[in-house]
Amino acid sequence: MAIETSASVPDENSSHLQKASVQDAGPAPLDASKLKITLTQSPKALVPPEQLRFGHTFSDHMIVATYDPVTGWSAPEIKPYAPLTLDPSSSCFQYCTNVFEGMKAYVGPDGKPRLFRPELNMRRLERSVARFALPPLDGDEVLKLIKRFVQIDVRWIPAVPGYSLYLRPTVIGTRAALGVTASDSAMLFVIASPAGPYFPQGLRPISLLAVSDCVRAWPGGTGSDKVGGNYAPGFLPQKIAAKQGYDQVLWLFGEDNRVTEAGVMNFFVIVKREDGDGLDVITAPLDGTILPGITRTSCLSLASSSAFQKENSLRLQTHERVFTMADLAQWSAQGRLVEALSVGTAAIIASVSKIGWKGKDITLPLHEAGLGPVGMALRKKIAAIQEGREEWEGWSIACDREL
Ligand SMILES: *Cc1c(COP(=O)(O)O)cnc(C)c1O
Repeated sequence: MAIETSASVPDENSSHLQKASVQDAGPAPLDASKLKITLTQSPKALVPPEQLRFGHTFSDHMIVATYDPVTGWSAPEIKPYAPLTLDPSSSCFQYCTNVFEGMKAYVGPDGKPRLFRPELNMRRLERSVARFALPPLDGDEVLKLIKRFVQIDVRWIPAVPGYSLYLRPTVIGTRAALGVTASDSAMLFVIASPAGPYFPQGLRPISLLAVSDCVRAWPGGTGSDKVGGNYAPGFLPQKIAAKQGYDQVLWLFGEDNRVTEAGVMNFFVIVKREDGDGLDVITAPLDGTILPGITRTSCLSLASSSAFQKENSLRLQTHERVFTMADLAQWSAQGRLVEALSVGTAAIIASVSKIGWKGKDITLPLHEAGLGPVGMALRKKIAAIQEGREEWEGWSIACDREL
């Protein structure tokens, strides 16, 4: 960066001067070290774990920072959870400049709060922000704030296995003008909601209705980013599926009805190999139509690990490849389709009991435990890593580091 003013001062302070002049010259980046904390004067009563409904209860505090095109990011704050006040002309209301993340904090047997591979959420948040031309945001600074936030609201993580604190980092465009253009102002906020099992019925398998007349995502679109605009168009097909008795939509793409995702989760099938040598673990490739889920990549990584396979007496080969409804129907007819799984942060892994397609159902084998051997092994392993009961490649990050 060519900043002339301080370069001529050859003393040992020159780098400080240079840094100061760079900051004077441009909007400030988000800086977690400037955090201001205001604790609530009236902590809310905790909701008993068994009464929690996903995303209905919020913790005592929230993170907020705002971006001004001239001054840049404000000093971030952790303050009591409260409504926001925004100009009705704000970009987020008019043009949907909203992006978000979904992640969870867990407590382990040692009582310490932990996050699961949070740096992947932060990289994805940075990509979503860039895709919607929102002001640049340093995810590493957001993560420092989130760790502090989780420490402060740790009492909201129910100390019951399978429960966690769902975190919803959000960035919205707050430019208050109607011109159809990128938002040069923004707000970051993070709220937290204590969460139990996503499907209250426990491991009850879910049913899917394959839909080809509505498309969730397409190459060159925004399907691979976690941007608000991707979700509203899915609500009508979801309602139609529910009316026909199915839990979620199975999203297809293209003339050949490629299988992409299920609801707002990634989708896997487990297929007996033709050569009899174990099972294929198959999910769609990241071709722009798929949200790169952290649960998806974790499942792929575990399933391809020989340690994981050995531990569970499984022989697995993982594949990120295109597969179609015709493939599913064929594998099912051949008796080779042993499991179908929906995977994502909220539910971890749910098994699929049937897939409605062209007026018929492709049915999957029922497993007594609610999940088949591969789904169960993955689910147990991921939950153990998340709750800090097992160490795996540094995936679980304690919230007391780096502060
Ligand atoms: C968030 C999301 C997923 C799951 O991603 P995780 O990081 O595993 O929670 C899958 N599909 C869509 C469309 C999503 O929005």
